Amino acid sequence: MKLTVKPLKQKDAGRGLAAIDRVSMRELDLENGDYIVIEGSGDGQAVARVWPGYPEDEGRGIIRIDGRLRQEADVGIDDNVSVEPADVSPAKSVTVALPQNLRIRGDIGPLVRDKLSGQAVTEGQTVPFSLSFGPMASSGQSVPLKIASTSPSGTVVITDSTTIDISETPAEQVSSGGGASPEGVPDVTYEDIGGLDDELDQVREMIELPMRHPELFQQLGIEPPKGVLLHGPPGTGKTLMAKAVANEIDAHFETISGPEIMSKYYGESEEQLREVFEEAEENAPAIIFIDELDSIAAKREDAGGDVERRVVAQLLSLMDGLEERGRVTVIAATNRIDDIDPALRRGGRFDREIEIGVPDKGGRKEILQVHTRGMPLQDGIDLDQYAESTHGFVGADLESLAREGAMNALRRIRPDLDLEEDEIDAEVLESLQVTERDFKEALKG
Ligand code: ADP
Repeated sequence: MKLTVKPLKQKDAGRGLAAIDRVSMRELDLENGDYIVIEGSGDGQAVARVWPGYPEDEGRGIIRIDGRLRQEADVGIDDNVSVEPADVSPAKSVTVALPQNLRIRGDIGPLVRDKLSGQAVTEGQTVPFSLSFGPMASSGQSVPLKIASTSPSGTVVITDSTTIDISETPAEQVSSGGGASPEGVPDVTYEDIGGLDDELDQVREMIELPMRHPELFQQLGIEPPKGVLLHGPPGTGKTLMAKAVANEIDAHFETISGPEIMSKYYGESEEQLREVFEEAEENAPAIIFIDELDSIAAKREDAGGDVERRVVAQLLSLMDGLEERGRVTVIAATNRIDDIDPALRRGGRFDREIEIGVPDKGGRKEILQVHTRGMPLQDGIDLDQYAESTHGFVGADLESLAREGAMNALRRIRPDLDLEEDEIDAEVLESLQVTERDFKEALKG
């Protein structure tokens, strides 16, 4: 029996889980907590722990896994995968490599064990480690740990009695067993985006489908889309979405900043546009993200300038001339859709315009879940309450709120921290907790 891949919910990502609905679990003879190997049509494989899916998936034959597992299994959303029981043994010991700039004094082993407990790991694998503190960790972000070796070898499960040793060699120098993201691909997955399910579906339909299955379009005799235009207030996740789509389909990612390109000297703007398109075509599949399109392509009567006219003409001709059609797609973003040159809005330049609005309460909750995912939250913190009281906040505001909350937690323990030292005390790390009060304070601003 094949299962269809879908994203996990934001709050459940990063823990090596595969959410499978109960009906499918029964059919596959799986129990809660079993370990399975997930395989798509490619070479990739991922090992995950089974967890009964969400009620709304009942009977739909769905397996929900997060971006890391999708990458390891080399599958995308809506792909079909097969699952088999995995051959795993409990880990006696695991040696873990930390990133170079995360320096810890004392034994961080127990903390790592607690966080990774129950996860299946293999030598060479990179696993996210939630840590809302330290030089690498901004709000809810996780630190990539490398599994340097395991005993026994093979795929092992980290249990409460596993010894975790920290490798002398930093993670950057430990060789990968695959699954690491190729260079130039941003590390954002669909689980990092909150409250934009419908919008994401629309973008995926326009971009993923033609890139992954160009034959469908050939078969139908229709041209694959050239681009989508995302519009809405700043900080709502337009850039995030473009990066996530690129990452999920392993597409090369090029960014053009509108204001930056317009600040070039005479002739240089067009030249740079040309170069970016060339680079993208050479590295196809690729996504070209144009941020603040309005600063390039304002309505001609407003801009009027010779430079704007030339740059818009160049952009139009580059978009029209895309040879790798379908395999190179433009995602443009603007906060000022009404200011965009109509020439860019008609004639199939952007095949669809998608509004990315201010999130509603449910969206705000998901976004808060994303940005507090890695935090050691005090028990009983009710994110609903914060979703309720943050009317009008966009994603970027909610991210700052979460980060401010974590900073407040940090300030509380500051007397125990020696800020002169660049090492962090493992005990201090372990005691760190973000409390109700930290968030309340953050909200007061
Ligand atoms: P835009 O491109 O719409 O101006 P960004 O995508 O650059 O906004 O958002 C800025 C930051 O705010 C992101 O990096 C992310 O941390 C946070 N953010 C914004 N929207 C969302 C969202 N929908 N879900 C999760 N985080 C978000």
